[in-house]
Amino acid sequence: MSENRTDVLIAGAGPNGLMLACELALAGISPVVVERLPGPSGEPRANGLVGSVSRVLDMRGLYTEFGGPAEGPKPLPYYIFSGMAFDMTGMDAGPMAALLIPQPELVVKLLARATELGVQVRWSHELTGFTRDDNRVRVELDGPEGPVVIHTRYLIGADGGKSAVRKLADIEFPGSTAEGTVTRFGHTDVPAAWLTPDGGIEIPGAGRFRFGHNRVERGMFVFAELPSGTMMAIQEFDAAATVVDEDAPMTLAELREAAERVLGAEVPLQPPTGPGPHALRRLVGQNTRVARHYRDGRIFLIGDAAHVHSAIGGPGLNLGLQDAVNLGWKLAAHLNGWAPADLLDTYHAERHPVAERTAMHSLAQSGLMLPGPETAGVRALFGELLAYPQVAAHIANLLAGTDRPYDTGDNHPLSGRLVPDFRLGDGRRVAELLRTARPVLLVTDTVADLAAGWPDRIEVITATGAPAPAMLIRPDGYVAWAADTLPAADDPTLRAALTRWFGPANSLVA
Ligand SMILES: Cc1cc2nc3c(=O)[nH]c(=O)nc-3n(C[C@H](O)[C@H](O)[C@H](O)COP(=O)(O)OP(=O)(O)OC[C@H]3O[C@@H](n4cnc5c(N)ncnc54)[C@H](O)[C@@H]3O)c2cc1C
Repeated sequence: MSENRTDVLIAGAGPNGLMLACELALAGISPVVVERLPGPSGEPRANGLVGSVSRVLDMRGLYTEFGGPAEGPKPLPYYIFSGMAFDMTGMDAGPMAALLIPQPELVVKLLARATELGVQVRWSHELTGFTRDDNRVRVELDGPEGPVVIHTRYLIGADGGKSAVRKLADIEFPGSTAEGTVTRFGHTDVPAAWLTPDGGIEIPGAGRFRFGHNRVERGMFVFAELPSGTMMAIQEFDAAATVVDEDAPMTLAELREAAERVLGAEVPLQPPTGPGPHALRRLVGQNTRVARHYRDGRIFLIGDAAHVHSAIGGPGLNLGLQDAVNLGWKLAAHLNGWAPADLLDTYHAERHPVAERTAMHSLAQSGLMLPGPETAGVRALFGELLAYPQVAAHIANLLAGTDRPYDTGDNHPLSGRLVPDFRLGDGRRVAELLRTARPVLLVTDTVADLAAGWPDRIEVITATGAPAPAMLIRPDGYVAWAADTLPAADDPTLRAALTRWFGPANSLVA
């Protein structure tokens, strides 16, 4: 049996595990990623990313590299809450931006970046168990040539909703399961004459439906014309009886039958001809759960391993990729020897509440899809409220994951929030300052000896154009501290913020 050592072992080469690997590698840490599949997963799940994650990817140069426009993310003019469109055009800086990219492509691109950064990915290695002591975790894996043991200082569960790491660590996963719900979805082909110019569909005998989620009397109907092909999903409530055998492969005929039950018309679906990859799946029940703890000593959870919820509105990767970016710099700081004592604990403190908010809004959106006249009444009222700009802004920030600032210990209105998107006087976008994931102290004018005790950790940049004369930006793009006047080099609030997030002055220099 082979035995190896590493600082960080990441279980799962899904999008979130690979993103974390990239973040660690950027900071000089070489993680090992283990993945039970023989290669990158081709399973069609997400069709894109939506929310503040677009801006975070942009900070690493990935938004454009992954297919977004060269000028970075643009706020969406409107988005959908439980199938109800709301307008964001009046918002100063709309927080919702998107990137259309099928999940398999995202995984391949993140893998290429991780490989370029020197990350080792071991395919066909399934984590089967672990034991731990005060210094290490001894991880047992099933490899292609038999059992493998890796001793690691930190183990990350990025192994999806059914996370073995979470279960083996005995981390509670509280929440709810909607028992009777059955969702069937897949790529398909529909008669071209049914497609409407606004991206929706008109089905003879059933009516006209918009792009995205539609509530109908007997369930939910999702329709989307995507670059990968035509996607259709049918959700039925109290429909468990319609599943003959949960292990039986899903078929197009089963999707068609569900569509006909819910839409009350003939829906002759044809096999998909789009480029794919093609999905065809049945989901029985719907879990909405958030792990009680994101950290248990040397073990951390990120992504779906830490939280699961309905895919309505596509919030999964907005949440998970930002878990990865939040944990990455903190764990690297710890391993590089400069992290303040409680930095690693701020991962749970900051990210757990965001998952709770996501669980809440995905339940609310699912609830607004339930059958019955009462739901219809609530929807009508909710629709009226959404027309108020203040309500639309509230919902937009909730969906973007930007509605509650992190507690950074500084009370400037910018602190704890993702740095606003702006252009510096020299023409650069603020996102470009964060390509290498180093903390940045951005000031509008030169101050001698500013952050002089942190030269190894902080990059001081002098440039005009920022919304405040001084801002301390963490590697994940969040503002740790800001001031409305240029600080003196010995400004106590700045020194406190630098120490709180990046350790004592000269801690590595002496
Ligand atoms: C139908 C559907 C549509 C969706 N649409 C969207 C969308 O439009 N937008 C969006 O943002 N999100 C969407 N999501 C959610 C998104 O797909 C997930 O949030 C995302 O896959 C989570 O990534 P992850 O890396 O945390 O986990 P996963 O993608 O599940 O990856 C976990 C990896 O761990 C591996 N693994 C598991 N156990 C072990 C083990 N014991 N040892 C080693 N490896 C292991 C798995 O093989 C897998 O590769 C959708 C989900 C579904 C199901």
